[in-house]
Amino acid sequence: MNWDEFSHWGKHISDWAADYHKGLPELPVRAQTAPGEIAAQLPEIPPDESETMEDIMADFERIVMPGMTHWQHPRFFAYFPANAAPPSMLADMLITTVAAQCMLWQTSPAATELEGVMVDWLRQALDLPPEYTGVIQDSASSATLSAVLTMRERATGFTGNRDGLNAKGDLRIYCSDQVHSSIDRACWVAGIGQNNLIKIPTNGPRHSMDVAALRQAISSDRDAGREPAGIIAATGGTGIGASDRLGEVLKVAIEQDLYTHLDAAWAGSAMICPEFRGDFWAGVEGFDSIVFNPHKWLGAQFDCSVQFLRDPTPQLNTLKIEPEYLKTTGAEVTNYSEWTIPLGRRFRALKIWFLIRSYGLEGLRERIRNHVAWAHEVCDEIRATEGFEIVTEPILSLFSFRCPGDDAAQQRLVDALNDDGRIYLTQGMFEGRKVIRFQVGQFDTTREQVMMAPVVITDVWRALQ
Ligand SMILES: *Cc1c(COP(=O)(O)O)cnc(C)c1O
Repeated sequence: MNWDEFSHWGKHISDWAADYHKGLPELPVRAQTAPGEIAAQLPEIPPDESETMEDIMADFERIVMPGMTHWQHPRFFAYFPANAAPPSMLADMLITTVAAQCMLWQTSPAATELEGVMVDWLRQALDLPPEYTGVIQDSASSATLSAVLTMRERATGFTGNRDGLNAKGDLRIYCSDQVHSSIDRACWVAGIGQNNLIKIPTNGPRHSMDVAALRQAISSDRDAGREPAGIIAATGGTGIGASDRLGEVLKVAIEQDLYTHLDAAWAGSAMICPEFRGDFWAGVEGFDSIVFNPHKWLGAQFDCSVQFLRDPTPQLNTLKIEPEYLKTTGAEVTNYSEWTIPLGRRFRALKIWFLIRSYGLEGLRERIRNHVAWAHEVCDEIRATEGFEIVTEPILSLFSFRCPGDDAAQQRLVDALNDDGRIYLTQGMFEGRKVIRFQVGQFDTTREQVMMAPVVITDVWRALQ
């Protein structure tokens, strides 16, 4: 392909993109295909001869698009959002165009310096104290793994990387029973082990870790000769939005000299709104590591996950490695690849820069406030529907409910709704019962689109009876 053809197709694709997004409300949200249907349409062997962009693009529309679930659809209420605000998509096109690998300051000084400033803009937006710095990672899973590795190294006097963990099996990490599976996985791969991740029961209106039980678990581990290494708290857990009382958790961590990590992957974005901080953010200052995903609710095209660090030194002592070919000379600079597990890194900060400048923090706050208010409205409609039950009340823009009937009836309704295609939502589990999860968060959705949900839910439920 020469650059004139590139220019032609680039324009074509950006027109296609705008039309695609404008047409989303008419499409079913979840892909309506059966397993294997897409693969069956693809040739089994790669082509030897070149093909035209016309043909490739036509097959993209004909074969690929019917197999896509539309995450930017205004009636996407499943999981959590993976918002891609249009300016952040444009930034991503520029990142792809320049195609730099930004592992070191000298491999693209602008990427490193913009990253430092964007992390600080977001630090201010989330009202964290000035001592926090941070790094942009690909995912919250990677940030959490970095924090768990740091807990391990700090608790072993920074000997784990050198000696391995074969002889040790007594490190303990604590979290609530509502945390995301990325925390379990981080403990698996860091050599801590599932049995040494201690899940503390939750209580109260926001399903918070029982701090007395946390204290008890730590002290009985110490009595048994085990080595507590860290505590992982959550603000806005994935299942039902469980949120810990951060100040109380931190107090235990300080008493016990434990490293702390906070998973606010989804709910962190809402902390740009001062009115939500009282319930969800009080006591956050002091956590050693905090992760939130601008690629979820905030609107930065996937992937883009920010890890704030109160002091980066322990994480650098855990992850930094400097073979000769990566050494840089001259003035003191930041090389962000030393802060993370992957070496290579995309220029993710550009998406945040385009996003925040295009909307201003106030434009982003307004969206999040609307989503929270509309989720409450939908919740009230469902509450008022005969036979339906709200199981967990809205935490920010997430709640869960049940229709009449047993667990199988809940799954039948979820499947029927997703086959219907007008809305998309997913199931969850709470206190041993299957629930239907509902969250509002698509970047450009409107009240009208959101309020279709309770109508569709009762409509599809009636048709099942
Ligand atoms: C989405 C989510 C994660 C995982 O995020 P990735 O960036 O996909 O790794 C972790 N914790 C919570 C609370 C989440 O909602």
